Amino acid sequence: MHVRYSYLPQQFAEIDSLLSQIKALVQSGDFTLGAELARFEQGFAEMLGAKHAIGVGSGTDALKLPLRAAGVGAGDEVITTANTFIATVGAIAELGARPVFVDCNDTFCMDVSQVERAITPRTKAIMPVHYTGYMTDMNALMPIAQRHGLVVVEDACQAILADIDGKRAGTWGRAGGFSLHPLKNLNVWGDGGVVVTDDDETARMLRLLRNHGMENRDEIAVLGYNSRLDTLQAVVGNWLLPQTESIAAKRIEHAAYYDRHLCEIAGIRIPPRTPGMRRVYHLYMVFAERRDELLAHCLAAGIEAKVHYPIPVYRQKGLAHLGYRAGDFPVSDRHIGEVITLPCDQHLSREQMDFVIETVRAFYRG
Ligand SMILES: *Cc1c(COP(=O)(O)O)cnc(C)c1O
Repeated sequence: MHVRYSYLPQQFAEIDSLLSQIKALVQSGDFTLGAELARFEQGFAEMLGAKHAIGVGSGTDALKLPLRAAGVGAGDEVITTANTFIATVGAIAELGARPVFVDCNDTFCMDVSQVERAITPRTKAIMPVHYTGYMTDMNALMPIAQRHGLVVVEDACQAILADIDGKRAGTWGRAGGFSLHPLKNLNVWGDGGVVVTDDDETARMLRLLRNHGMENRDEIAVLGYNSRLDTLQAVVGNWLLPQTESIAAKRIEHAAYYDRHLCEIAGIRIPPRTPGMRRVYHLYMVFAERRDELLAHCLAAGIEAKVHYPIPVYRQKGLAHLGYRAGDFPVSDRHIGEVITLPCDQHLSREQMDFVIETVRAFYRG
């Protein structure tokens, strides 16, 4: 049996209604900003329970622009996690600021108990990453940020509709950034991102920054960027929005099924499933003994399992100038040898999941 990782052909198998909406957009010529984008932003904000949503060019820009709006610039430090996807770090570095890393815990998110040690007089902001669709312990992080006068911008790119006690990822800090990249849970047909915020001034600034800083056709209020969410992608987004909750629910259901069966297998350890937290399983990751052998076994059986990631971001060659060394973040280092990602998307069939479980079970049975 083949258990593919990418489900995009299934996600977009029936798109006649979407194509007719795209045709209408093309005929209207309303290609930048405009009505469809405004409709998407309003729908997105409502879905998350946020006051404003602002569409931008990518998930990376959905992190960079709110940092810039908060005044982060050259020489400032931004605290984030040592094990994130490179885009978090790139967003900070693009502003000339310095990423400062903190280790993660077994939820794959920032170990908040280590944040205070990382604060210096140059620290301006904290960027927790709700990695894999888990959430950072925001109840613990927000008081620390407040005590030190630091802005929190959440990297919620992998965590759309995750929450802690009903409060959604992206709505805890000054702003939260989401990615609409084809690999993410709500995926348009190219690059795209969204920032949510309850702060009117931040929202005003973000609308300026994404569109060259233009107050209107003739006046530039600030030096900005070209980072609008394409109106065409907003049409795709509007088609996807009503499905977002059921996508999250299906992934949660599939993860619970895996958990129930994989937890019985000696050799597999399920990460802590913190009560009160809704995880949306952008990545379904577990800890595995003899991980490399298990991975090879799965691949040989036709299961496209993956490792996120074999090299933690803090040890990447491209970040060597930051001066970190192997061993600085022991939990992230341990994870690179233990984690395995199994396909867990909304289109996976029960038969495919049973095959994955049986394949893993057979491996440890020997
Ligand atoms: C996808 C992602 C981003 C943003 O990526 P883009 O490709 O720019 O949309 C940022 N942070 C994390 C953790 C991500 O997974």
